[in-house]
Amino acid sequence: MPVLNNKLNYLGVSFKSLCFLIVTSTILLSDFNLIELKSQQTFAQTNQKTIPVTNTWKSASFPVENFQAYTSLFGYRIHPVSGDKQFHYGLDLAAPLGSYVRNWWGGTVVSLSDHTGCGTMIQIQSGSWTHKYCHLMGSVQNTPQGRVLVDSSGGIYLWEGQQVPAGARIARVGMTGRTTGPHLHWELIYNGQYIDPATVLRQMFAQQI
Ligand SMILES: [Zn+2]
Repeated sequence: MPVLNNKLNYLGVSFKSLCFLIVTSTILLSDFNLIELKSQQTFAQTNQKTIPVTNTWKSASFPVENFQAYTSLFGYRIHPVSGDKQFHYGLDLAAPLGSYVRNWWGGTVVSLSDHTGCGTMIQIQSGSWTHKYCHLMGSVQNTPQGRVLVDSSGGIYLWEGQQVPAGARIARVGMTGRTTGPHLHWELIYNGQYIDPATVLRQMFAQQI
């Protein structure tokens, strides 16, 4: 519980404002039409607007171990390397080099890549959600059996096409790609539309209380 409070405080959320946030972030998410999740939810009519009120995010995992701080939020920013103003499509979570990255939501590894600005990267598909993890340790290798992310000293061998449950250790925080310090750059895309990951984290924390 203190850990969750710390994480909420980093996101600029006080415990007292949580009720307000539950309502506002729920409405925000409902605007993205979470149709596939409706079977898992019950709905309430509030102010003539249908909003999800239960358990959707309960089995989702916080995406990194040994979390230290949110170092860059979703939205416009001055890029720390290039100095240009540009949109930051993810949330940056600082953690010591080598900290394990955990899969946010059960799904299939649909893409692995390395040697781009994103560094060593994993993309996982969970229904209409795509989640992307950048700047990881290790590299991607082509084998006769397919493509695999290899970080042997971390015990990581993650294959394209592999199914991974929520909370599984899928990689470690590294310094690959364009980065000034060890952190996980985490992106969430719903039906092709980028979502602020902080909005989803607030929902997850709200449901753990
Ligand atoms: Zn980032």
